[in-house]
Amino acid sequence: MIKELMEKADKTLFATYARVPVAFGRGKGCNLWDTDGKKYVDFVAGIAVCNIGHAHPRVAEVLCRQAKTLLHVSNLYYTLPQVELASWLVEKSFADRVFFGNSGAEANEAALKLARKYFKDKGEGNRFRVISMEKSFHGRTMATLSATGQDKIKKGFEPVMDSFDFVPFNDITALKKKIGASTCAVILEPIQGEGGVRCPAPGYLESVREVCDKAGILLIFDEIQTGIGRTGKLFAYENFNVEPDIMTLAKALGNGLPIGAMLAKEDVASAFSPGSHASTFGGTPIITAAALETLKVFEDEDIVKKCRQQGEYFKQRLLWLKQRHEVVEDVRGMGLLLGMKIKKDGRSIVNLCMEKGFLINCIQENILRFIPPLIIGRDEIDALVACLDDVLA
Ligand SMILES: *Cc1c(COP(=O)(O)O)cnc(C)c1O
Repeated sequence: MIKELMEKADKTLFATYARVPVAFGRGKGCNLWDTDGKKYVDFVAGIAVCNIGHAHPRVAEVLCRQAKTLLHVSNLYYTLPQVELASWLVEKSFADRVFFGNSGAEANEAALKLARKYFKDKGEGNRFRVISMEKSFHGRTMATLSATGQDKIKKGFEPVMDSFDFVPFNDITALKKKIGASTCAVILEPIQGEGGVRCPAPGYLESVREVCDKAGILLIFDEIQTGIGRTGKLFAYENFNVEPDIMTLAKALGNGLPIGAMLAKEDVASAFSPGSHASTFGGTPIITAAALETLKVFEDEDIVKKCRQQGEYFKQRLLWLKQRHEVVEDVRGMGLLLGMKIKKDGRSIVNLCMEKGFLINCIQENILRFIPPLIIGRDEIDALVACLDDVLA
């Protein structure tokens, strides 16, 4: 089955992914089953997407109901699920308004456009440059790959947009120096995800906010990976004493359905008016209904608190592994966005764990990333730690 499927895939799909040789057929909670029926515990969650687990009955139920009622109209009209989802997000965040798209990259595109338009409207159209962080990741569209601080993402697509400047993450002096008369915004991930699960130094984000305020420029938080409970708060910025002017969300917002969102305060959001920006599928009823139900599950089951508790426990267990294995260099992260840096190539460890029925992920060659559904149990964490203990030995 898997061999045939792989052969067919190799002939028909763009070769854009270095896939692991497994095909999944079914999921439930924190478990996945491949097409041969082998079970895996999922510590990847579709890359920090399925935060309340696979095949959640309440999300499935709402999807079925909405599919039989109304899939899609257009943003030429109002629909209830879109407005309810926006209201929920506004109520729970710093923001006053929400724009819906279909992915993370699209949410960041919208944010970058909004920052430009905001200054254009103020008569400061010369302010259009954005400062971004080295090792950041913001997406694969032309603007968002230009905003990304990793050469491998841009390779082959040059010339990229020449309106981004880069500084090292956690270096406030470098940031201050880089801000110029043409800077309109700073974009950053509160915790860098793809760049290697890199946390902000104490006080860093607070200082970034201060520097932006002093310079009169906007602060954009890309919370596409850190948002929706992942770090032990609904939004990562709540861990720090800082609010952005614009925030982007995607990944976990739909628990697996494609959705992205850009949120902003009123004075910034008002730079967009009819015709400024649009998306055919953005905020369509079927997707927003599923996202809204996901967030209601978050409330009803206290998912964010669970994440905080399990995250602390998981991190302690990873630190225990670090004590036992010289090959482990560093353990870091917050909530259930955890990374373990090792002194050799991590891919063999990923493969060995997979053989033993655990899905984990490796980024930047030597950083193992653990981003399970936020409903992961202690037994499952213990089982993975035992597996890693074995594999690392
Ligand atoms: C995944 C990710 C993106 C891109 O999201 P897509 O939905 O793949 O376009 C952007 N920023 C961050 C921080 C991400 O983790």
